Amino acid sequence: MNFQTVLDDIAEALAPEAGREGEVARYIPALARVDARRFGIALRTREGEEAAAGDGRTPFSIQSISKLFTLTLAMRHLPEAALWERIGREPSGNPFNSLVQLESEHGKPRNPFINAGAIAVADRIVSLYGGDAKGSLAGFMSHLAGEPVDFDREVAASEASTGFRNVALANFMKSFGKLDHDVGAVLDLYFHQCALSMSCLQLARAAGYLCRDGVHPFDVGENVVTERQARRINALMLTCGTYDAAGDFAFRIGLPCKSGVGGGIVAVVPDRLTLAVWSPALDATGNSLLGMKALEMFAARTGLSVF
Ligand code: GLN
Repeated sequence: MNFQTVLDDIAEALAPEAGREGEVARYIPALARVDARRFGIALRTREGEEAAAGDGRTPFSIQSISKLFTLTLAMRHLPEAALWERIGREPSGNPFNSLVQLESEHGKPRNPFINAGAIAVADRIVSLYGGDAKGSLAGFMSHLAGEPVDFDREVAASEASTGFRNVALANFMKSFGKLDHDVGAVLDLYFHQCALSMSCLQLARAAGYLCRDGVHPFDVGENVVTERQARRINALMLTCGTYDAAGDFAFRIGLPCKSGVGGGIVAVVPDRLTLAVWSPALDATGNSLLGMKALEMFAARTGLSVF
């Protein structure tokens, strides 16, 4: 299959629609300035073949896609029990920043891909690296992407000054004894992970272990996670990776996906390839409208699906 042609066709077909519908995330001021007409798409196969189209090489704010990588980092270094005693594995059926379930479920987030769950994962990462947590995460991302990856400091500052809900979620969990570390230190990591700046191609590369049974995307003779862990991360992406739209994603696209309010979505075709799309205009659930459409087109055109 000529993937470059497939991506070129998708980019060409969707270009006229870019920015027409949906809204860029306005609740984070630095994201509100992003041009809604950007559209990028890129993939990397298990064997290392790459293709990119549109703005596929332009960095953007990966936002909640980072939750995939912090979970991976935590799974890589922590015993399973230490992680899953604090975080569930069920779809929430609620918006990504919802507070409601946390109270009735005594501060234990439903899954690692909603904000509360990712904040709990960030707490675990602070346990692992202490004051060097941000640097360790940036190092891990660069190691996966095969080139330097850094935070957009302006986006991180913008999140920190407006992230009132995340502050509430973290304090709420802390009140239930579910965070070990200082709320400020945990949120500093969380706001920075959301502000990682990467292109679709870098994301497709970095997530490559998920289509290679956990093996590092660049054959550096290392497993990022075990085969079993890679399978489990894919399962969590399919059931929880796109918040309260996860059912619709599974129905329409049929691939494990993780989205972010920067307009990016990473998708995995297990044993075949990883794919990333970027279009900043979002639907009401905080998922990229055109990104979802692009993935739907890709699955239809290639016949690639987990089902
Ligand atoms: N930084 C965003 C937030 O915490 C991430 C949310 C997202 O991408 N869904 O609200």
